[in-house]
Amino acid sequence: MKAFEILLGYGCNEKCSFCSQELSWRAAPGLPLGLVVEQLVLAAKEGFDGVCFTGGEPTLRADLATMVACARRSGYRYIRVQTNGLRLARPEYARELVEAGANFFRVSIHGHTPELHDGLVKVPGALEKAERALENLRGLGAGIGINFVLNRANYRSLPDFCAHFLDRGQSNFVIIYPLFEGDLVAHEAEMSVGMGEVAPYVRAAFEVFRARKAPLPRLLNFTPCALPELRERMLSWSARSALIVDERGVPVDLYMASHDDRAKPAACRGCALDASCLGFKRSYLERFPAGLAPVAEGGAEEGPFAVGAEEIARALQPVPAQAAGASLLVERMKIRLDPARRALTEDRSQWSVAPHA
Ligand code: SF4
Repeated sequence: MKAFEILLGYGCNEKCSFCSQELSWRAAPGLPLGLVVEQLVLAAKEGFDGVCFTGGEPTLRADLATMVACARRSGYRYIRVQTNGLRLARPEYARELVEAGANFFRVSIHGHTPELHDGLVKVPGALEKAERALENLRGLGAGIGINFVLNRANYRSLPDFCAHFLDRGQSNFVIIYPLFEGDLVAHEAEMSVGMGEVAPYVRAAFEVFRARKAPLPRLLNFTPCALPELRERMLSWSARSALIVDERGVPVDLYMASHDDRAKPAACRGCALDASCLGFKRSYLERFPAGLAPVAEGGAEEGPFAVGAEEIARALQPVPAQAAGASLLVERMKIRLDPARRALTEDRSQWSVAPHA
């Protein structure tokens, strides 16, 4: 699969203090429908067959179903919506998106009790709505995944969170270590937690999955030294780990975690994974400069070597932090995997368009 991620805009109906985007970015208008349609069609002609609509909250766009339908008509076989689930609590809206062609929904939920989830996203009733969204989508036969972003308020509850949703029939989870960007920077005192501190709770969560013989979750934004035995489940720690491959080794999904702005402390030179590991985000090392103990044993890295240096993913978004105005600055990023350099390379281009109101 070649994946195209389209960030429609930064507007959102939740207000998470651990968000990697800034509240002020919400002022900018979103991508206009005409541009999204044009870029969808162009990418399809270039062989892209997977698309993810994200934000912000993409369901705030009244024209989301139109875009989804365009994606289906253009030949995309995997059409994903990344959402907080609030609007999908309405059965008729969930049906509209599924009938338009959306076949996978990744729902962000950060607590298994209303106190926790509603408090974190600052919307009363948010958990109840997200759970109704899951029910609606399941009834419609759509694929569902749950994203859980760790923070100081919720990390100890992770095993209970996983048990709660496994018991309700969910089986596809991504556990995300937060990025020290956006609003999280303004709320570090109450939200920040180190990888070393969360590691025992992630291990305990994996035991919950093993006890139920459920598919193990994926881990995003971790370095292997935090949880060496779970490296195979980690995304974004090496160039190849961005890709999820199926049993035949064919790429089936790609996580657009940023691979830039990484750094390695001196201790990494003694790590068995130094050659393939991209290191910590610089913003993490500024806060936790000691890093973690290097990994003693590596082993050959497995991955889709055959992909070559071709373009494997593309992203389109409004440039962050721009005020509302007569024109909107848009950025397109083409991502190539270069196995020889063990790197994802990113070509960026920017241009102005008339904004979506
Ligand atoms: S190379 Fe450094 S960051 Fe990567 S796993 Fe080893 S110690 Fe951790």
